[in-house]
Amino acid sequence: MKNKILVTGGAGYIGSHTCIALHEAGYEIVVYDNLSNSSREAINRVSTIIGQPLAFIEGDIRDAESLRQVFADHAFFGVIHFAGLKAVGESVAKPLLYYNNNVSGTITLLEVMMEHNVKNLIFSSSATVYGDPNTLPIDETAPRSCTNPYGQSKLAVEHILEDLSVTDKSWNLISLRYFNPVGAHPSGQIGEDPNDMPNNLMPYISQVAVGKLEKLSIFGNDYPTVDGTGVRDFIHVTDLAAGHVAALDYLKQLALCNNDAIGFLPINLGTGKGSSVLELVNAFADVTDQTVPYQFTDRRVGDIASCYASADKAKTLFGWQAKLSIIDMCKDTWRWQSMNPNGYRAP
Ligand code: NAD
Ligand code: UDP
Repeated sequence: MKNKILVTGGAGYIGSHTCIALHEAGYEIVVYDNLSNSSREAINRVSTIIGQPLAFIEGDIRDAESLRQVFADHAFFGVIHFAGLKAVGESVAKPLLYYNNNVSGTITLLEVMMEHNVKNLIFSSSATVYGDPNTLPIDETAPRSCTNPYGQSKLAVEHILEDLSVTDKSWNLISLRYFNPVGAHPSGQIGEDPNDMPNNLMPYISQVAVGKLEKLSIFGNDYPTVDGTGVRDFIHVTDLAAGHVAALDYLKQLALCNNDAIGFLPINLGTGKGSSVLELVNAFADVTDQTVPYQFTDRRVGDIASCYASADKAKTLFGWQAKLSIIDMCKDTWRWQSMNPNGYRAP
């Protein structure tokens, strides 16, 4: 059985960690990335960690000819599709860029997959597709709605995948809805490396702790939560990476047993446990012995009070569940941040 996986966006934060997990699980990998939000150094470091060069092709998912060449050169079992732009604020400023990259890019990828009869796809979706949830924890049947172009682009792709699965019953389309990925590989060699000012909480905290930023702003302390700050389901990126391997193993098993295709399958990847912003900040300060100065400011527009997953479906179907704690997440983030104060860039 074919064992080769195309990993679009494999040079990025979640993709690079997943490449290591895939390699450890015995999969052969080809990374396809245009490096718009990542660097070759991430590929070099993954190569060092896995002890062999990681196959890498620089290319854009919107470039059908380039993709066709990749599919002609390799016989893939399936595709893990991380490639996409992910900054909510930027998506509001540049909606066409986001729809073009995330939606048109995915359509091009699906067309080329279809031409080459590769019908196994694992797509990077997000808990953002649930909008402001009515009930917690959020399970996969919860209604979906989004308020910004980034979220809309994820939702649009989910709708496209659903429509495709109705028309052509031979597709296996798993949409993994990530909650809040944080942390880094335990080697400290790869991690999250925001290009500019971090938008997300954990990289902001770690850049304050390392002295690159002066003070964290905590957006709102008047939410109806345990301490007034927002509650999220933080999940260690290596647990998330293992979730992709579990999803792929599930598809392999289906293929081995000649089972019918599954169509569109949405799955939450979260821990099932919510932690508040303040709890994360305090845990980070405790674990790392660093001070993290912060101030409370107004709520950020578009933020919701609480969001955490029901992770039961992933456990039942894939036998996967998150193992690592908030303490592991803080320790590993700090190791990466302190060993690489400038991320992948030279000091
Ligand atoms: P990332 O930016 O680190 O990685 C994305 C990778 O895709 C980058 O290496 C980038 O260069 C590449 N890319 C972007 N557009 C491309 C294109 N047109 N062609 C080829 N490569 C392209 O982001 P990440 O945090 O690793 O996220 C991976 C995926 O997971 C994204 O689709 C993101 O939307 C989704 N996601 C991320 C989070 C999160 O908090 N990090 C949460 C939910 C979902
Ligand atoms: N947050 C914050 N300060 C920051 C960044 C984020 O207080 O500088 C809060 C944000 O309001 C939310 C939580 O941290 O409650 C997680 O935000 P993030 O942007 O990391 O992920 P989101 O859940 O919005 O996708």
